[in-house]
Amino acid sequence: MQIRENVSLAPMTTMKIGGPARYFCEAVSLAEIEEAVAFAAQHELPIFILGGGSNILVSDDGYPGMVLHVAMNDVTSREEDEELFLTVGAGYRWDDLVALAVSRGVWGIENLSAIPGTVGGATVQNIGAYGCEVGDVITLVEVYDPTTSRVQTLNNAECRFSYRDSVWKHEGKGLIVLRVTFRLRRKATPNIAYKDVAAFFAQEGIITPTLGDICTAIIAIRSAKFPDLTTHGTAGSYFKNPVVSARDAEEFLSRFPDAPHYPLHNGSVKLSAAWIIDHVLHMRGVRAGHVGCWDAQALVVVNYGDASADEVRNFARDIQERSLLLAHIALETEVINVA
Ligand SMILES: Cc1cc2nc3c(=O)[nH]c(=O)nc-3n(C[C@H](O)[C@H](O)[C@H](O)COP(=O)(O)OP(=O)(O)OC[C@H]3O[C@@H](n4cnc5c(N)ncnc54)[C@H](O)[C@@H]3O)c2cc1C
Repeated sequence: MQIRENVSLAPMTTMKIGGPARYFCEAVSLAEIEEAVAFAAQHELPIFILGGGSNILVSDDGYPGMVLHVAMNDVTSREEDEELFLTVGAGYRWDDLVALAVSRGVWGIENLSAIPGTVGGATVQNIGAYGCEVGDVITLVEVYDPTTSRVQTLNNAECRFSYRDSVWKHEGKGLIVLRVTFRLRRKATPNIAYKDVAAFFAQEGIITPTLGDICTAIIAIRSAKFPDLTTHGTAGSYFKNPVVSARDAEEFLSRFPDAPHYPLHNGSVKLSAAWIIDHVLHMRGVRAGHVGCWDAQALVVVNYGDASADEVRNFARDIQERSLLLAHIALETEVINVA
């Protein structure tokens, strides 16, 4: 395995921003991961695990340690009754996994079509879209712990999945995802209740969509909302949807009665960050220098060409400050800062 020095990270991210990694390597096996971890320990370097770079903002100064890109992409499968268990390397492209599941005729991740990134990143971020979250179909995650040099397997409960959250953001920080097992269903279980998806099928006159129909719908809906990654830089939704107490929600809704809101099981309420940015801050389509909020989806912060990480961070901070001031709602970033 080659450990390279001063490797530019911008082309490895969908934001297309960021300085160099002091050291960079790509590991295709556990042995190579161990080698990279040993090198970092020997040189007392911090490690950042890079997947597809689709949910990160790398600082303009780059990363002072070792960037380790996990590129394991083996796939094994096991049939059990009406279910197919797919065990997939962390470096496997997420959307290729969706295509694989569809080609094998199994249900569970089709609503997550066309999300950039890798299986490892999808697991850590607990990706979700159109009424589906990946944590719901993950049964096991094999991880390598650099502090103990041991491989262990986490079950679903141990992954502590919740909205864009998982154990990797808390006490599991630093655990390297090696492989993930997904439980997918043979039985057709279309999940088309989400507003945009339901509207798509109503318009198409399709009542019982196939897996392929759902992928087509999701891709069509997404391509109208997200910029083309070949022409614009973005990391998708920049902020999480805020989850607030019932009391805070009541105060917010008394001022903005039209705001979409979703009561959760525990009594708290999820609000729409996109709606707040659009209807309270009026920043949808607003551009400052090389950075802006995408016209078709206010939550998507876009690099129009030559934006620096500082510019993006300042723009995002401005949105957060305005949200506090005008909506009295704190917006937490979904995108991870790498510095
Ligand atoms: C156009 C666009 C649309 C998007 N749409 C959605 C959407 O609909 N829903 C959604 O949830 N997200 C969405 N995203 C965000 C992003 O695609 C996901 O979060 C994605 O799963 C990140 O995966 P990645 O491999 O790119 O991870 P990276 O961005 O490389 O890393 C993200 C985090 O995961 C960690 N990580 C990555 N691999 C490993 C590993 N093997 N072991 C341990 N840690 C690891 C990194 O250290 C980092 O903390 C979108 C992004 C873009 C650009």
